[in-house]
Amino acid sequence: LERSEAHYYGAGPALMPTEVLQQAAYDIINYCGEGVGVGEISHRSKLADDIINNTKKNIADLLSIPDNYEVFFMQGGGTTGFSSVATNLSSNFYKQNGDLGIRAKPYYIVNGTWSLKSFEEAKRLGLDAEVYYNVKQSNGKFDDYKTNSNKQLPKLNKDQVSYLYYCDNETVNGIEFPEPPKVESGINIVCDMSSNFLSKKVDVSKYGLIFAGAQKNVGLAGLTIYIIRKDLISQLNEKIDEEKKIMDKYHLPITPIANHFPTVIKNNSAYNTIPIFTLYILKLVTDKLIAEGGLENQQKLNNYKSEILYGVLDKYPKLFDLPVNTEARSNMNVVFRINGDGLESKFIEEAKNEGFTGLKGHRSVGGCRVSIYNAISKQSVEKLVAFIDKFAASQ
Ligand code: PLP
Repeated sequence: LERSEAHYYGAGPALMPTEVLQQAAYDIINYCGEGVGVGEISHRSKLADDIINNTKKNIADLLSIPDNYEVFFMQGGGTTGFSSVATNLSSNFYKQNGDLGIRAKPYYIVNGTWSLKSFEEAKRLGLDAEVYYNVKQSNGKFDDYKTNSNKQLPKLNKDQVSYLYYCDNETVNGIEFPEPPKVESGINIVCDMSSNFLSKKVDVSKYGLIFAGAQKNVGLAGLTIYIIRKDLISQLNEKIDEEKKIMDKYHLPITPIANHFPTVIKNNSAYNTIPIFTLYILKLVTDKLIAEGGLENQQKLNNYKSEILYGVLDKYPKLFDLPVNTEARSNMNVVFRINGDGLESKFIEEAKNEGFTGLKGHRSVGGCRVSIYNAISKQSVEKLVAFIDKFAASQ
């Protein structure tokens, strides 16, 4: 099973390392000499359990996750994460505060398309969620977060915040947080890392919960990775009928059982059938990351790729319009517009003729977007940079 290197820069599902897919292609037919494929084994078998445990261990090793955190997996993607976070963590709050009269709320930093959707989902589910700050400008564009974070922001009182939510990398808008928001201790930060999970080193101890859909940087669609601080689970870990009583009382939706964090964790991510093939791909991807020197190495490579790409775009400021301020530029999704009538279509067409595909911006914002996730090689980006340089010089 061979293919030549694809220069495909789609935002997700995204390119996976060929050797991972080759190994998985073999294992989907016959896994460990069992005569059945990895997608056909029982999710309660020892083989499945080993895949789950080894993947958890790989993620824990890569991110140096402290012992007081738990890694688990659920079906669904990033959007399932939006709803699961809202229902699980809101029940947490209501249990803690019960009738005490203090109504803690979730606060959302809206720094792009996905955090806005997550906020809207929390509201739709009936949570009393607040926007903490919003970088959406009056012209409808999402600007970078930096200028806005200088604004006078409300001081958060930890007793009144059930969690503070943000999206570390806004895939559509090309905005990435250089570091998590600074908040007083005791505030649980919840973070969507769907499009930059395992692209860089992260200090997990700063978070209450991290989640990520797998299909961009680390795997295939169908699986969400969660990392949660254990004290948050123990607060959740009460009887389900107790939760129901509280949710009924406050007219809040109860968490579906397959997304109920304590239930999923208690059953080592196999309460219901886990998409084991998708998880197996994640295992192979994380094995490869470890073998290649871990996140330090990956981060260096990702920095290099984004530096040369932004470098060539900055070289032609009249031609390329980069909407995101330098400090908040994403290392994963490089977005830009090309000034000049019809030039964007010309660029996309000429790029396609040279074998570079997946360069169109998200349909909601237009323009161009180059997604340079972990699986995109240094050589691929160098070739694209040379093409962009040639294209720009000839305009
Ligand atoms: N969060 C981020 C940062 C994303 O980029 C996406 C998808 O592009 C999502 C959430 C939603 O993911 P899904 O389509 O898996 O629900």
